[in-house]
Amino acid sequence: MKIQAHYVNGSAWSGSSKRKIDVNNPATGEVTSELVLATKADVDEVVNIAHKAFQSWSTTPPAKRAQVMFAFRDLLKQNIDELAELLSSEHGKTIPDAKGEVARGIEVIEFACGIPQLLKGEYSEQVANGVDTHSIRQPLGVVAGITPFNFPAMVPLWMYPVSLSCGNSFILKPSEKDPSVVLRIAELLDEAGLPKGVFSVVNGDKEAVDALLDNPLVEAISFVGSTTIGEYIYSRGTANGKRVQALCGAKNHLVVMPDADMEQVADALMGSAYGSAGERCMAISVAVPVGEETADRLIEVLAPRVQALKVAPYTDPSSDMGPVITKASLDNIHDYIGQGLDAGAELVVDGRDLKLQGYEDGYFIGGCLFDKVTTDMSIYTDEIFGPVLAVVRANTYEEALDMINNHEYGNGTAIFTRDGDAARHFCSRTRIGMVGVNVPIPVPVAYHSFGGWKRSLFGDHHIHGMEGVRFNTALKTITSRWPSGIKEGAVFNFHSGSDTHSK
Ligand code: NAD
Repeated sequence: MKIQAHYVNGSAWSGSSKRKIDVNNPATGEVTSELVLATKADVDEVVNIAHKAFQSWSTTPPAKRAQVMFAFRDLLKQNIDELAELLSSEHGKTIPDAKGEVARGIEVIEFACGIPQLLKGEYSEQVANGVDTHSIRQPLGVVAGITPFNFPAMVPLWMYPVSLSCGNSFILKPSEKDPSVVLRIAELLDEAGLPKGVFSVVNGDKEAVDALLDNPLVEAISFVGSTTIGEYIYSRGTANGKRVQALCGAKNHLVVMPDADMEQVADALMGSAYGSAGERCMAISVAVPVGEETADRLIEVLAPRVQALKVAPYTDPSSDMGPVITKASLDNIHDYIGQGLDAGAELVVDGRDLKLQGYEDGYFIGGCLFDKVTTDMSIYTDEIFGPVLAVVRANTYEEALDMINNHEYGNGTAIFTRDGDAARHFCSRTRIGMVGVNVPIPVPVAYHSFGGWKRSLFGDHHIHGMEGVRFNTALKTITSRWPSGIKEGAVFNFHSGSDTHSK
């Protein structure tokens, strides 16, 4: 049996732990490897290595740091087939979807290649007589990332290319469910020329995460995952004086206005609700048609498409979506569907009985479509994280808008309409971090920033783009006067630059 552990100081490292967990192929249920779970002592050792490596990396010129990112980007491009295969074999998503996530990750590296420009500070000459002020952004030290299973390549890449380029050292604690692609990418980063110790991967569970949260040498934590865990990480990390951003769970609504192009809506919903088996934090899990007539048309167009979804393992190139990640996740999804039925929702398409010959032990479920869902049902309130779309009928646009704004989550949302006024109003009034107009999954490109509102994000910063640079640096403002400047004698009063007279 293949055993995997950590990646530290430019090579695989087994650490001291005896605890292990199985990693499965979700399409077959087979155990494909065992993963070692780090102890607190292991994590503390890696933090010390990262802290030491920070000393010279943080003073390396940004242009030189960018050179590593250029090489890293090329290596990911060259190896994308191998990376996608590794990723799909443990996550279950289709190969084109896996390649798409690596490609989106590469875009963040490309953004990070511009770090000399991004770190440029500001300068004001003569803020008072003979006095100049400038501001700079400096790296923080050791930064840690804790990431979820659903984008094992892309989500870590949201974090460390920006953080490393800013001059930090970085420790990644990826999901224990699909670690192989992360470990392979760590090798490529080493091959790209990153000095040893600057980037490490530590695999583990709560023990490893708590060790990162409590180690005083860890300055900042980027977390992406579920709301329960994110809230815990935010409170424990900030209580320990760290800077924390925690991007969390979601329930994303797509509003269908009566004037929307229904074919376009159906295509958008198919991809955004069922792509990657609904295991995306930006998946649309609620469709809100406005008016009964719109709702009836939507169900009529959508139901046959959901029925026709091709559910198959990633090795089948015609697959639309693969299995979900674990048996526990599959059971959880079945449980929610039962709750929806008990509460009186109408299961228009029931994917529960899907059986794939030769893959009976895989974690497959077909696409499910609920109609006549109400906002008090758990299939509406909770993030299911599976291929289950709930249709909640709204009488008016205002009712749809209130529904979205009253939901505890605020990650993404979309409106489909031909009416510019309605779209503009929607963009302005939704209490949501990322909004799409006729775009179902409005994930910002790498040079903008990704993040939700309400209980989809704890902390002040969104991720990647300029928000990523701000999160990963500390702002310092320097005010200087040189001996040849104006000598005012001792000044006892606070005064502004405009009070003084230039001579
Ligand atoms: P998760 O919260 O179970 O795990 C995320 C990370 O936290 C993993 O590394 C895991 O090992 C660690 N962890 C789990 N339990 C822990 C504990 N008790 N103490 C400390 N650490 C713990 O999330 P997941 O199931 O891997 O991913 C799915 C979730 O991630 C969904 O809720 C999804 O919406 C969310 N997500 C959010 C975004 C976003 O940008 N908002 C993006 C992707 C995924």
